[in-house]
Amino acid sequence: MASVIAVANQKGGVAKTTTVHTLAEALTDRGKRVLMIDLDPQACLTYATDSDPDGLGQTVHDVFLGRVSAQDVLVEREGPDLLPSSIDLAGSEIHLLTKTGREFVLKRALAEVKDRYDIVLIDCGPSLGILTVNALTAADTVLIPFQAETLSDRAVGQLLETIDDVRDYTNENLSVLGGVATMFNSRTNLGKRVLVDMTETHGLNVIEPPIPRSVRVAEAPGEGVSVLQYARRSRSADAYRELAANIEAML
Ligand code: ADP
Ligand code: MG
Repeated sequence: MASVIAVANQKGGVAKTTTVHTLAEALTDRGKRVLMIDLDPQACLTYATDSDPDGLGQTVHDVFLGRVSAQDVLVEREGPDLLPSSIDLAGSEIHLLTKTGREFVLKRALAEVKDRYDIVLIDCGPSLGILTVNALTAADTVLIPFQAETLSDRAVGQLLETIDDVRDYTNENLSVLGGVATMFNSRTNLGKRVLVDMTETHGLNVIEPPIPRSVRVAEAPGEGVSVLQYARRSRSADAYRELAANIEAML
């Protein structure tokens, strides 16, 4: 039975997409069967994995509309598989507004393909809207990437409140796997203070290790790969591999 992890934080630019892509590759390298789901209308993960959304035809948007099954849009790749997104997904939000059972569409769609995987990673977009609620409803756990540069980060608090609501209404078994500090600069005290703050203020278990900031990570998606292939001996690649091992041990 697959373990479904929603990678969420409604703040943009905290490395959700980077973390999904790189962790998925690291877990694949560890022998796991991994599916990535792109749930952001900006389709950054779909581009980063070198799948051109414009050339795909159908995407997860068509799954939300009930036109096709997850199986029909699944992109089987050499590395982790992908349920791709496209800008059309923005229209899914409007469509879902009037639909009964709207929180459960992804969960139902996933049921059909889930058994083929050990781990499913869902890349959420920068909002706490219905798409993210679908991800949280379909998930067993939530992984929260955060940039360790903001003290009293309100975004994480709001996300944890949404997770509580989801537990009350659509997914009582949802648990928080933990936080991941991204773009970490170990030379400043601020980064370390933010890590302590995450635990003290939000009770968030921060999974080791923090991912160092590195231009190599930012350059990789332009080549259609993650930092694991682009700069496999970099500190960031090492950190993501270690994170994958630690997450695997927690599942
Ligand atoms: P999100 O999905 O949360 O919006 P992204 O994964 O798209 O965030 O990351 C935002 C930007 O930061 C991207 O340009 C990405 O390449 C860059 N980035 C992510 N992780 C790192 C890192 N460890 N070091 C440097 N840049 C990073
Ligand atoms: Mg993203």
